[in-house]
Amino acid sequence: MSDANGSGVLRVIPLGGLGEIGLNCLVLEYGDAAIAIDCGLMFPELHMLGIDLVIPDLTYLEALGDRFLGFVLTHGHEDHLGALPYVLRDLRVPVYAPPMAAGLLTEKIREHNLPVRLETMRPRQPWDMGPFTIEMVHMTHSIVDAVALAIRTPLGTVIHSGDFKLDQTPIDGAASDLACLAAHAAGGVLLLLSDSTNSERPGHTPSERVIRGNLDRVFSDTPGKVLFSTFSSHIHRITQVLELSQRHGRRVVTVGRSLHTSIKVASQLGHLEYPPSLFAEVNELRDLDPREVTLLITGSQGEPLSALVRIAVGDHKQVKLAPDDAVVLSSRIIPGNERSIGNMINHMSRRGATIHHSGTSHVHVSGHASQEELKLLLRLVRPRYFVPVHGEYRHLVQHRALAHEVGVAPDATFLLEDGHVLEIDAAGARVAPPVRAGRVFVDGKGVGDVEDVVLRDRRHLSSDGLVLVVLAIDQQSGEVIAGPDLVSRGFIFEENGQEYLERAKAVVLETLQEVTSESRSDSMEVKEEVRKALKRFFARTLERRPVIVPFIMEM
Ligand SMILES: [Zn+2]
Ligand SMILES: [Zn+2]
Repeated sequence: MSDANGSGVLRVIPLGGLGEIGLNCLVLEYGDAAIAIDCGLMFPELHMLGIDLVIPDLTYLEALGDRFLGFVLTHGHEDHLGALPYVLRDLRVPVYAPPMAAGLLTEKIREHNLPVRLETMRPRQPWDMGPFTIEMVHMTHSIVDAVALAIRTPLGTVIHSGDFKLDQTPIDGAASDLACLAAHAAGGVLLLLSDSTNSERPGHTPSERVIRGNLDRVFSDTPGKVLFSTFSSHIHRITQVLELSQRHGRRVVTVGRSLHTSIKVASQLGHLEYPPSLFAEVNELRDLDPREVTLLITGSQGEPLSALVRIAVGDHKQVKLAPDDAVVLSSRIIPGNERSIGNMINHMSRRGATIHHSGTSHVHVSGHASQEELKLLLRLVRPRYFVPVHGEYRHLVQHRALAHEVGVAPDATFLLEDGHVLEIDAAGARVAPPVRAGRVFVDGKGVGDVEDVVLRDRRHLSSDGLVLVVLAIDQQSGEVIAGPDLVSRGFIFEENGQEYLERAKAVVLETLQEVTSESRSDSMEVKEEVRKALKRFFARTLERRPVIVPFIMEM
């Protein structure tokens, strides 16, 4: 066991989420014991073609062996727990989570068929992990059951804010438990780690309640259906949609698997209590007056193939968009998605629907604290040391400046990045040599077989070759004018090669037929669909994974 008199060293090691958005994972180590806070993923950027997910490199935790005691989760967002189903295959440790996160994780590990010891913990009920005593503290955020963590160590208390904002009028009445944080602060706080996502935003983040009036008008004034899109885990937003639907006599049809899961879990936990009669099935739509319908739907980021995009391009079997309808995109635009969201809005506008999004009306508020809230937390906690977490480098720098404004000493704040090590002991705090950290790319269900996109492409090129797909489409009509032609190098040279490539060509044509003419004018989308279809075809028929490069000319 570790010493209890505080003569040891506390090591603070972010393995993800510092200097980037997503992949949140932070290790606390004391003596021979370590815990990790959160374990999130990141969705790939456009240039990472063929990559499904990005997760943090946890080599460091793996090397700790039995000394690694488990994960503690702050809430159920993907950027805080999404990597767990992939890393728990190798790291057989318990996971401690607040109820909603535990519920969502249960669904995930069921899908992945993993035996995991999952402990549901509640605020103000401390438990021990080695030398650490951990207590969850309720905080408001864009998901229910979000918590900060107060972690007692032999050297003093560490407070990790989780993701939070200080909403004084939350939808469920449960405001952030500042009293509990103050109680910890009274005993002295060694280190504060706090959410930097909105550190560039002056003022306060508005309450979730402020968009209610605007939403109410949409639900009452829209002569047709209301299509409401938000992140599936945003239970408070969903609560508002259900309440307003009930008030304005609309029945709610949910579309999208993650939304079903999230509503199921939240209902089981008592966060959503509505009569089953409020809900309708998607196949009941044709019998309902559009004025009596709300569609709750995922896909707010314009993800290709999502239900919302299919509705936008007129390709959804049960849901057609009409000029009387209103679409509410109630979420922020994740950077990188501007173009696909813009395309989706264009398609919807073409069908005459009224679109409400954060650029045109107040239909979304952030779940992260702005500058005044961040300063309030710093004042309340009065930490000896401060490390800004969750954010790109500029957010961390800005958060550090806020800390200095409220009196945290400049030499007591540390700007860490992934893999950096902060060591704290009785003599002070200092940055120690870094450990391995980085990103692991997940392709399908395989983990870590991809070090880097370039390396992966090289490996695939050398072992499985290259297939070029060339075709020309009419920019206006989306019709195929020439091709598809398939050219391969180092992929297939058997006698029946030509015949095989003909079959592949048929796959391309089928795929093009499935994509509607409207989205066919978007060559990015067509490329991705063609690439996916061929990848499946080659894997199924030959068990090979050539690099596939669709080359589409718009004429
Ligand atoms: Zn987050
Ligand atoms: Zn979050």
